[in-house]
Amino acid sequence: MQFLDEATIFVKAGNGGAGCVSFRREKFIEFGGPDGGDGGKGGDIWLHASKDLNTLIDYRFAKHFKATTGIHGMGRNRTGAQGDDLILTMPLGTQVFDAETGILLADLIDEEQRVCIARGGRGGLGNAHFKSSTNQSPRTAQKGELGEERQLYLQLKVMADVGLVGLPNAGKSTFLSAVSRARPKVADYPFTTLHPHLGMVYLDEQERVFADIPGLIEGAAEGVGLGHEFLRHVERCQALLHLVDATSDDPAEDFHVVRQELAAYSEALANKPYVVALNKIDALESDLQEMVFQLFTEATGEEPLLISGLAKKNIEPLLRLIWSFAIHDDSWEAEYGC
Ligand code: GDP
Ligand code: MG
Repeated sequence: MQFLDEATIFVKAGNGGAGCVSFRREKFIEFGGPDGGDGGKGGDIWLHASKDLNTLIDYRFAKHFKATTGIHGMGRNRTGAQGDDLILTMPLGTQVFDAETGILLADLIDEEQRVCIARGGRGGLGNAHFKSSTNQSPRTAQKGELGEERQLYLQLKVMADVGLVGLPNAGKSTFLSAVSRARPKVADYPFTTLHPHLGMVYLDEQERVFADIPGLIEGAAEGVGLGHEFLRHVERCQALLHLVDATSDDPAEDFHVVRQELAAYSEALANKPYVVALNKIDALESDLQEMVFQLFTEATGEEPLLISGLAKKNIEPLLRLIWSFAIHDDSWEAEYGC
């Protein structure tokens, strides 16, 4: 399944260092003369494409990026040091737009591709440059040029490997927060998740992209609630994770409702491999857990894992099971020809 992952960031390249006004003065040298050095160039901002990243999540937290200023020039014709460049690593396939004009500035389609997105300002000239026959002791030096700054809109098409499905309040957002660095909104009312949220989940150094999909409710296929518009997103993922609220009145019925919704939408979707987990077991005593498990198994023929996203119980065995189904889908890389 394919999503648009996006972020807006502000970048500012370093200002150039100022040129220096200085004169040579030494005890036994009669004529000094200007010797102010030039300022150093400000650092540039570069974008670097890496296939090791799959989302723009990092750029939703940190939004301001600045390269350092060039050092000002000094006496005895010393040039100031250059500012350090700043390199921002972006996932392969990211498109970078000027947020104000909407113009495409860079398309990061080659692995290890580097693009300078904001130039550092040039350093100002020191007064040594301004010496002439008519002005032997110039008192002028240039300021450093300002570094370029711009607002960037980043956009990436992401393929999700695992779709999280379940009724509203099954704990999908909470689960995603527990297993990844994504921080979807959590609330105890339906339809908090109006847009799918993505999270990178790691196990044994292998990653999968999970997507928290807006809650299904009975009749979604007929347009109740959010409708099944969003289900289109689920169609291309490798596996589904069914989260069922173990504390609900009838978990087996909840599961059936979701299965029916999937089947009503598309057979292909209903035929995807899936893993079932009874969630929120932290809220149940162990004998009750046992009972819920038995009832669920009898009613559905499934053998769910008992987990808790909130208390992080049994997460690893669950991920292992999912990993055995979901192969990382890199077809978007093929789409970009890399
Ligand atoms: P979603 O609609 O499926 O995304 O569900 P949310 O993640 O928004 O959670 C709905 C409610 O259930 C929130 O009040 C959560 O705090 C609560 N919840 C989620 N996971 C757990 C869990 O593992 N244990 C308990 N006790 N509560 C949970
Ligand atoms: Mg949610």
